[in-house]
Amino acid sequence: MNIQSDVYDITIVGSGPTGLYGAFYAGVRGMKTKILDALPELGGQLVTLYPEKWVFDVGGFPKILAKDLAKNLIAQAMTFAPTVCLDEKVLSVKTHSENGTKIFELVTDKGTAHLTKTIVLTAGIGAFKPKKLDKPGIEQFEGKGIHYFVNEKKVFKDKDVLIVGGGDSAVDWCLNLLDTAKKITLIHRSDQFRAHEESIRALMSSPIEIMTFHELRSVSGNERLEMAIVYDNRTIRETALRIDEIILNLGFHADLGPIKEWGLELDKVGIKVNYRMETSVEGIFAAGDVASHPGKLKLISTGFGEVVAAVNFAKNFIDPSAKVYPGHSTDLRNIPGAAKGN
Ligand SMILES: Cc1cc2nc3c(=O)[nH]c(=O)nc-3n(C[C@H](O)[C@H](O)[C@H](O)COP(=O)(O)OP(=O)(O)OC[C@H]3O[C@@H](n4cnc5c(N)ncnc54)[C@H](O)[C@@H]3O)c2cc1C
Repeated sequence: MNIQSDVYDITIVGSGPTGLYGAFYAGVRGMKTKILDALPELGGQLVTLYPEKWVFDVGGFPKILAKDLAKNLIAQAMTFAPTVCLDEKVLSVKTHSENGTKIFELVTDKGTAHLTKTIVLTAGIGAFKPKKLDKPGIEQFEGKGIHYFVNEKKVFKDKDVLIVGGGDSAVDWCLNLLDTAKKITLIHRSDQFRAHEESIRALMSSPIEIMTFHELRSVSGNERLEMAIVYDNRTIRETALRIDEIILNLGFHADLGPIKEWGLELDKVGIKVNYRMETSVEGIFAAGDVASHPGKLKLISTGFGEVVAAVNFAKNFIDPSAKVYPGHSTDLRNIPGAAKGN
């Protein structure tokens, strides 16, 4: 076991939008901060699931690409130079006492123990994996035409693209690739789309070929994917489609995995928190998609507000003389630029 000797004031588990903003805010509160993430890059769902999707509902940005929002959040998070540990999945937590102070020991899959006075869990939907389709050819053509994530739109430039699914991701990708792909076909197993009303309206008036009540039977090709057989699930009639790329948007298996075994109180939504964003264990806070409280909305902007509360109460937890409410950012002299009032 590699035990890190430095004890941090706060360790943020998960570097999605909530964790990144939390890292910035912990710096504002003068806390020695560490961020841990299982993924090899910062940004969480914004960079992993939908980097090139427009985001319209974050305050201050009438319209911003998810990857650009992540870039801004990363720049802001780095203001106070937190320690960043990537590609490191948190597995377990232990507590011990050092001179009367509670210290948490977070052990990761790299066999490293990170020591910290408080923890803020911003683990989102957990370490997520796309749901896969067990159909002939799918596994064989993964990375050769079968996609579960879209990292670069240019891969689909002038291609015949088949999108499978009826949720937000499928509909969003149809619309986002309209200016890139040669032709887009969408198949969905029913005629009910679970997407934003505005997006469904845009989809219906687009040139995308929509095949409702259709499912994927099999795919084939040589070096790369070339053909998809789809079928009408009412008549079982098959149609062969000449296809270059397929995006499977069938949802994700989201699993909090080892965090579920920590003994924190959970419900169907996630980890239960009180108004301080504190979990059932003192000193462990949660914010963003992973945190559950009555009326929870899983949105980027929700996570921002929640993590500010979590960090401020974490500050007060380790130093009861520190105010929970720090005042406005213009009153804080440690933010670069704030002292000059610019
Ligand atoms: C297709 C799609 C479109 C969306 N569009 C919008 C939108 O337009 N507007 C909006 O407000 N919201 C949108 N959302 C929702 C939004 O993305 C989430 O609410 C937001 O990402 C939550 O942020 P988070 O930081 O809490 O979690 P996440 O972004 O999920 O980040 C969690 C991070 O924790 C890490 N992690 C998990 N477990 C561990 C572990 N054990 N150890 C270490 N690291 C771990 C993960 O690797 C990940 O990086 C969309 C979601 C999807 C799927």
